[in-house]
Amino acid sequence: MKITYSIVAPIYNEIENLPELYRRVRDVMDSSGQPWELILVDDGSTDGSTEKIRELAKADKHVRPIIFARNFGHQPAVTAGWDYARGEAVVIIDADLQDPPEVILDLAKKWQEGYEVVYAIRAEREGETWFKKATAAMFYRIIYRITDVKIPVDTGDFRLMDRKVVDVLKQMRERHRFPRGMSAWVGFRQIGVEYKRAARTAGVTKYPFRKMLKLAINAITGFSYLPLQVATFFGFFSAGLSILAIPVVAILRLAGSHFFEGQTTTLISVLFLGGVQLISLGILGEYVGRLYDEAKGRPLYIVREAPKDD
Ligand code: UDP
Ligand code: MG
Repeated sequence: MKITYSIVAPIYNEIENLPELYRRVRDVMDSSGQPWELILVDDGSTDGSTEKIRELAKADKHVRPIIFARNFGHQPAVTAGWDYARGEAVVIIDADLQDPPEVILDLAKKWQEGYEVVYAIRAEREGETWFKKATAAMFYRIIYRITDVKIPVDTGDFRLMDRKVVDVLKQMRERHRFPRGMSAWVGFRQIGVEYKRAARTAGVTKYPFRKMLKLAINAITGFSYLPLQVATFFGFFSAGLSILAIPVVAILRLAGSHFFEGQTTTLISVLFLGGVQLISLGILGEYVGRLYDEAKGRPLYIVREAPKDD
């Protein structure tokens, strides 16, 4: 049977949310009257989510389990969802019900109007700390300013994409991924739909600050050379400054001023330049490391179990 909607949910230790997620997705998708599937990508859960996913799949053929060999992270799980989805439209949704499954119907409406990427904009966020909201708001705006693609602000991975778009994304096998940037980069007709992001129904966030920072660095390095160019800017800035300073100091010394005597000024400028050089080297290292990762060409994720009917 031809599938219209593939709903993809990455799962990392979401056992309390799984039954509710399944129930709400089923109710919403059944009401759409179209054939659908729910792809649950188990990203190395250790809390029994894996068994629960197998159970759901056994009870309902709509559910297709993809089970990873270990925890690979949210982005590789989303990628596996793109790879395994068979639908004409693919929806990525968080498993913790922060993205209400009911919104899928609003996204689908825009898709039927002819849009190929329909992203959900978080008009409001419930139940998140001010720190998360503030860093997220800052992150989206910085990314928007410095990257080469216009990634819509306040959107997450919750979005519907047409088969055409998914087929293009499947060819983009970069390792350090920023899925929402990639889906903006491909073009096509895109539109946003606002929704209210709910609080997590159960469990705790799987995105501690460390992982958010990693994602932010992926977004910046994946879509911009700006950090590399900053080194050039500092180079010109300090070279310009010293060209101005040399005659000033020389004239002052010749005029008998003792203003620049002593080692303090020398030390400060050496330390400053040393710092700038080390930071630039670090940035260069970051990009070189990413090149190295790409060169190794390892798979983005490893599947232990997937449905046979592929
Ligand atoms: N997730 C995952 N692998 C990970 C971390 C998270 O598959 O290593 C999933 C998680 O189960 C959830 C989604 O990604 O379905 C978003 O994670 P979370 O809700 O913890 O992030 P937040 O909403 O707090 O940003
Ligand atoms: Mg969440």
